[in-house]
Amino acid sequence: MSKALLARKELLIEVLSIQTTSGNEFDMIAYIHRFCRENVPSAEVVIKNSNIYITKGKAEAYPCIVAHTDTVHDIHKFYKVFDDDNCLFAFNSESGKQVGVGGDDKVGIWLALEMLMMKDNIKCAFFHSEEIGCIGSSDADMDWFKDVGYCLQGDRRGNNDFVNNISGKLFSKAFSKAIAPSLAYHDYSEASGSITDVGQLADNGIGVCVANMSCGYYAPHSDEEIVEFLDSNNCLNMIDMLVKSLGCNRYEYQREKESYSSYNWGDFKGADRDYWYGNYGVSEVRDNENGDESCYYCGCTELMESEFTDDDYECRYCPDCSSDIILETKEVLEPNRVEFDYDDVSDNYDAEIVDKEILNRQLTQIN
Ligand SMILES: [Zn+2]
Ligand SMILES: [Zn+2]
Repeated sequence: MSKALLARKELLIEVLSIQTTSGNEFDMIAYIHRFCRENVPSAEVVIKNSNIYITKGKAEAYPCIVAHTDTVHDIHKFYKVFDDDNCLFAFNSESGKQVGVGGDDKVGIWLALEMLMMKDNIKCAFFHSEEIGCIGSSDADMDWFKDVGYCLQGDRRGNNDFVNNISGKLFSKAFSKAIAPSLAYHDYSEASGSITDVGQLADNGIGVCVANMSCGYYAPHSDEEIVEFLDSNNCLNMIDMLVKSLGCNRYEYQREKESYSSYNWGDFKGADRDYWYGNYGVSEVRDNENGDESCYYCGCTELMESEFTDDDYECRYCPDCSSDIILETKEVLEPNRVEFDYDDVSDNYDAEIVDKEILNRQLTQIN
């Protein structure tokens, strides 16, 4: 294996080694922030309502890579990722049992970080809590997407689906034609898929072409979840070729409103901070070794007053993250923390209406 390929694999293993679960994604957000500081120092990083927005370079229309920072898996005290002949999997060394490696969507995060290093002009967005109903992307800062030319996301099992439809078309015929050679070269073909952040961005009215694609994880949402590195790498090569051929151009696409656009996520829709477990005791402001208030994500100690302080939250503004972070919740809210004790249909089925109905029923029953 070449040195460059080995470096890619090492980074993927590093990302897979960070554990997150919906609502507890602090470590991944902090990791992405640190990664940019160290490896892409020119990039502007903004953390807003637990979503991360990264801009590198200057373009009239940026290519944009999207991923989500949560996984469906529990956080284990003893967790280690292994590599057997490019098959990456994880074990809980306390129980001695295999656990899901969280390729969904840590492979997507890795794709974005690799692209950030490779390209001069690019944007990346990382959304929290996708797995419990696209909470982060529902709350996306759509102003930030105004100079985005198209969005690509790696958030699908397998190695050959290029998702063109999530309860409605995601891109235009012109886009389909422009991407065809890159797809064929990497053995991908167009298919329809299930809800993820780019579908939510289309619903939010992003106005440009978006797509989701297989990125080399298998058996998502199960303890048997694994990642085939060479499949993930093939996806990365395809995204690289796609961005080369599409360039910094805008691919307009306004999705037609289908009956499904009024899709109801139950009580989740429109929620932002109330779903972040941080509100129930985990503060984004921590005391460092010297006892000074510091930002959990970047360690900055120059925290300022925040205009977001209100009756429910006391916040600080971190100038380093350009972000308002929660110091504490003023009164303990009734935690409407959800139990994810349902068969997740969203990753295992294509987005046929009947599946959506099942999913919707499941999600609305959760409270
Ligand atoms: Zn996912
Ligand atoms: Zn998933």
